[in-house]
Amino acid sequence: MEGALTARDRVGIQDFVLLDETTEAAFLSNLKKRFSKDLIYTYIGTLLVSVNPYKELDIYNKKQMEVYMGVNFFELPPHIYALADNAYQTMLTEYNNHFILISGESGAGKTEASKKILQYYAVTCPSTTLLNTVRDKMLMSNPVLEAFGNAKTLKNDNSSRFGKYMDIQFDSQGDAVGGHILNYLLEKSRVVHQNHGERNFHIFYQLVEGGEDDLLHELGLEKDAQHYNYLTQGECAIVSSINDRNDWKTVKNALQIINIDEINTNHLFGIVASVLHLGNVQFDSDSKGHALLNNNTELRWLLGVDAQSLQEGLTYRKIEVLSPFTIDHAIYARDALAKAIYGQTFTWLVNRINESMENKVRRRVKTVIGLLDIYGFEVFYVNSFEQFCINYCNEKLQQLFIQLTLKAEQEEYEAEDIEWEPVQFFNNKIICDLVEERHRGIISILDEECLRPGDATDLTFLERLEDKMGNHPHFVTHKLADKMTRKTLERGDFRLLHYAGEVTYCVVGKRNQNLICQSKNAIVRECFATVDPDSRRRPETVATQFKSSLLKLTEILMAKEAWYIRCLKSNESKQPGQFDEALIRHQVKYLGLMEHLRVRRAGFAYRRKYDVFLKRYKPLCPATWPHWRGVPADGVEVLVQHLGYLPYEYKMGRTKIFIRHPRTLYATEDAYEKC
Ligand code: ADP
Ligand code: MG
Repeated sequence: MEGALTARDRVGIQDFVLLDETTEAAFLSNLKKRFSKDLIYTYIGTLLVSVNPYKELDIYNKKQMEVYMGVNFFELPPHIYALADNAYQTMLTEYNNHFILISGESGAGKTEASKKILQYYAVTCPSTTLLNTVRDKMLMSNPVLEAFGNAKTLKNDNSSRFGKYMDIQFDSQGDAVGGHILNYLLEKSRVVHQNHGERNFHIFYQLVEGGEDDLLHELGLEKDAQHYNYLTQGECAIVSSINDRNDWKTVKNALQIINIDEINTNHLFGIVASVLHLGNVQFDSDSKGHALLNNNTELRWLLGVDAQSLQEGLTYRKIEVLSPFTIDHAIYARDALAKAIYGQTFTWLVNRINESMENKVRRRVKTVIGLLDIYGFEVFYVNSFEQFCINYCNEKLQQLFIQLTLKAEQEEYEAEDIEWEPVQFFNNKIICDLVEERHRGIISILDEECLRPGDATDLTFLERLEDKMGNHPHFVTHKLADKMTRKTLERGDFRLLHYAGEVTYCVVGKRNQNLICQSKNAIVRECFATVDPDSRRRPETVATQFKSSLLKLTEILMAKEAWYIRCLKSNESKQPGQFDEALIRHQVKYLGLMEHLRVRRAGFAYRRKYDVFLKRYKPLCPATWPHWRGVPADGVEVLVQHLGYLPYEYKMGRTKIFIRHPRTLYATEDAYEKC
């Protein structure tokens, strides 16, 4: 009987902490029940779990935003707005910096989540006309960066192929006064190569499909993606979920809003067009096997550089005297140039966006909320250097999560002398170390191979890895794979057992196989750094640069208060309403959600230093208001007893009070607001 059903029966439990049992089965069943009612959000304490619905839900409008503004976290159904609002309110009351870490595998909904948070702040923060322009710029940076940095992959029709960390800067009144973006490693190889079923970056198709006739004519472009080598390898230029023509208009409009003037906009599209033309450059071979530009190649459209030098650049190598290239080398040089041009352009765009979002209202930035939306863990049929970096980045973020929640939490109880039954969890530090440890990790070995003069090849790199990593529990090479009778590995591959699953990386660039015999290994090649001739320092490889930038990011994040959104992919086929239980169970497991829940349940969701707590809440008790004359800890004890907290609901640590469920405190906050 419908009437007899409780809310709990109908829509499940909105905070896993309140679940009767902490089994995986109970967890999944609750998630599934909620998902079937289009309730995609559930809490674990203050952590938000989100399941991608793959359909538009009517829960992201202005009215909904207003519902969540300034309301206590647990009083309303879970929502991403509640988390955004809670971070914002905490920032305002405690004057500290925050970040929201959005994680999950490719296609789980991270980018959508980050956009929703930005929209929430844009709509709900106090506003003035001047501030509105900053806000528009922050919002409009999205379509531009997505056009240039996102692409259709097999996992996601709008997959972010770069990492993004954005600080939203607030003044002391909580007005958003500016923003700043840090970007991480764009997947440049996509410019020249796409796997089957994947596309190049959106902007290319937008320009060719949506560009005005005059513009296309000026750029020498055909109105047809099929005409361009760089757009057709994946054989899916047209995608039903993507409207390139509309997106073109949005991007052009967005470019205006972020202050890119007409001249620069023209240059920008000129570059995009040049990359397409470059991809169509063909070579012939002369009788000695040296590359010559094919007669049909029209150099006049390219880049506005001198045709003679470009021709030489593409067909000759400069070692003291010019020495001619073979065709394979020439193609390699052409592709390298295309990638370099596109990569530089992307960096240029991010810099322009940052200039336009700069805090110009001359109000001091008091605090920030950082939004981290980085490419998710991914496994393809063939995984190359890019996947290696992407998955390494995900390991680092998982490590940060573990450090800040499971590990730090339990260590704090110990330090504060709070009685505690430790919860076991898998710590992926071992995998991070395998990749990044100095002198011993995969990146260090790669560096050495890159910098070793002469005879380094794909296979010598693999041999070194085998020598050094041979016994590591998370590393498998083809020799070991045979021994362990795991799935066989091809010569030239190695496998890492990541926290989120096994990934086989291909060291030999499959698509450049014919090049391999003369060139260095695919990963090594990707890693070739530009060596500054004036510098005596050892040149840095791309992998090492990436490692340092992740290290810096970790430092930025560690200095802030963390909020987590864990996005789960509901099914592999992007179908609305489909809940693939096995797929979700796998994600729940590797994201450590059960462990997080156990720590949360057994632990204390709220803690504050005694003096801070007393200062904040002393008006609620006659004995502590207006002054408490003893030590703060005693004052806090008097205060919480006065508020009716029972002994099991709180614990007094060495320096802090710990309260089990924040809801009791939030109710108190209500009383505080009223008093
Ligand atoms: P990720 O950044 O994790 O790779 P995205 O955020 O790009 O994934 O999401 C992939 C796709 O899933 C989106 O293009 C959209 O179609 C769908 N999606 C994600 N989150 C939502 C949501 N909250 N509501 C509706 N659809 C969503
Ligand atoms: Mg994304």
